[in-house]
Amino acid sequence: MAALPPSVAKALEEARKLVDWEGFDRGRVEAAIKEMLSKVDVVYTHYLENCVGCAACAPACPYYPVSEKYGPVEKAEHTRHIYRREATLLGRLLGPLLDAKKPKKPEHLDMLVEMVYRCTNCGACYLACPFGIDSGSVIKGLLAGLVSRAGRLPLLMAVFEALERTGAFMEVPALRQIWDDVMKKAADAIGRELPFDKPGSDYMLFVSMADAMFYPDAVIGAVRILEKSGVDWTLPSQPLGFRPPIAAVVGFSPEAKQVLKALDERISKLQPRSLVLLDGGFVYLWMRWNLPKVLGRRPSYRVLHIVEFAYQMLREGRLKLRQTEDPVTWHDPCQLARRSGVTREPVEVLKAASRGFRLLPHHGAESLCCGGGGGIGCLSMQMIEQMAKIVGVDPSMLVTGEKERRFIEKTQEAWAIAVKRKIDDIRKSGAKTVVTACPVCMHSIEGGARLYGLDIEVKHIAAYLAERLA
Ligand code: SF4
Ligand code: SF4
Repeated sequence: MAALPPSVAKALEEARKLVDWEGFDRGRVEAAIKEMLSKVDVVYTHYLENCVGCAACAPACPYYPVSEKYGPVEKAEHTRHIYRREATLLGRLLGPLLDAKKPKKPEHLDMLVEMVYRCTNCGACYLACPFGIDSGSVIKGLLAGLVSRAGRLPLLMAVFEALERTGAFMEVPALRQIWDDVMKKAADAIGRELPFDKPGSDYMLFVSMADAMFYPDAVIGAVRILEKSGVDWTLPSQPLGFRPPIAAVVGFSPEAKQVLKALDERISKLQPRSLVLLDGGFVYLWMRWNLPKVLGRRPSYRVLHIVEFAYQMLREGRLKLRQTEDPVTWHDPCQLARRSGVTREPVEVLKAASRGFRLLPHHGAESLCCGGGGGIGCLSMQMIEQMAKIVGVDPSMLVTGEKERRFIEKTQEAWAIAVKRKIDDIRKSGAKTVVTACPVCMHSIEGGARLYGLDIEVKHIAAYLAERLA
C-alpha cells in the first residue's frame, strides 16, 4: 500500500489514541463524567429529574422491538444513575439505594456503549412522552460523550472525526478524486463552468465530502435545480467538511463547535444570503438550530434544505416539473421532520412531481425511524472495508480488535430488527420509489429492503426532481 499523506497518518494516529475497547482508565472516566455534567443545563435537568417511568415512550422506539432493555427510558436511566451519584446530594449520600452509581469496571463501559448505539436520536420518544422528556437527547447528547471520552468509541467514527476536524480528509487522494469527478459531472450537466466561491450570491449550495461520496447524483441534481431556477447561486470549490460536525455523533461537543465555527467563517466570507443543504440528517439540525447557539448570534445567512428551496421555487413559478405517474413515497428523515418541522414541503413537491405520490402510513412527525441514525448505519464491516480502501489502509487499521468487531456485528444484528417496521410501512404503501434526503436513511432503507425482500428504489429528493425538470 502507498504511504499515507503525513496529515492523514497523523489523524489516524490521533484517532487511535482516543479508542480503548478493553481497559478502564479511572482518570479518563472521571474527566468524562465531569465533562458530561458540565452540559447539564435547565432543559437537561428536566429530562433527568422528571421521568415518571410510565413507559409511554417505549413503543415509539425503533430499538424497543430488539429488546426491552433498549426502551428509551431504560437507556436514558443509565445517564440518570451517574447524574444522581455525582450531581445530587441525596444520590451522594444514599448511593445505590437511589440507583445512584457510576461506572467502575470495564464491563460497565461495555454496557453503556451498547446503550448509546441502540439509539438514533430520532426524537420519537420525545413526541410520545406526556412530559416532553427527550430520552434521545439524554442518550446521544450526554451519555455518548461520556462513553466516547472514556475510550469506547468505534475507531471508524474516531477516524472520521479526526479527518474532518483536521481537514486531512482532503489529503486522501481517492476522496479528492471523488470530489473532482462529481464537480466535473455537475459542470457537464449544466453545460458551463461551475460558479465556485462567488461572493454575495443569493444561494450557496452546501456540499460536504459525504454528499459527494454517498449520493453524487443528488449533488449533480441540486446543481441542475439551482441553475434551472435561474437564481444567483454558488457552491464551494472544496467540500464543507466530511459530514460536519461528525464530532456531534460521538458526543464530542467542543470539537463539534470548533468545526462549526470554522465552517461559519468560511461560509460568511462569501456572504451568501441563503445556504442550501442536501443533507437532512444531523447536518441540517446542527446548521439550522445549533449553529446560532454555538456562535451566540444568528448566522448572516438563512439555512434551508434543497426540498424547501424547491418548494419555494415551485410556488414562485421559477421551477417547473414534468408530472409522472410514479408510485413514489417520501421517507421523513427524523432530524428534518420530527426535530425540524420540515414535513409539508416534501409532500407538496412530490405531489407536483408525480400523480402516483402516496404518503407512508406513518408520516410527518409520526414517521418511523429507519434505525440507522446516530452512527449506527455506518457501523458495519462492509463500511469499514470500503473506507479502508478509500483511505488506502488495511481494514484492520479501522477496527481495534475482536471485541470491537463483535460489537459492530451485534449492532448490525440489532439494526436488522429495528429497520423492519420501516420496511413494512413502505411495503404497505405500495410505493416503488422511496425518496428521502439523508445519506444514512438511504443506506438503511436500501439495506432493509434487501434484507426483507422489498423491491424498491431509494433516491435523494434532488436527484429525483432533477430527472423531472421541465
Ligand atoms: S420519558 Fe416520558 S414517556 Fe418515557 S417513561 Fe419517562 S415520563 Fe414516561
Ligand atoms: S431517540 Fe429514538 S432511538 Fe433513541 S431512545 Fe428515543 S425513540 Fe429510541
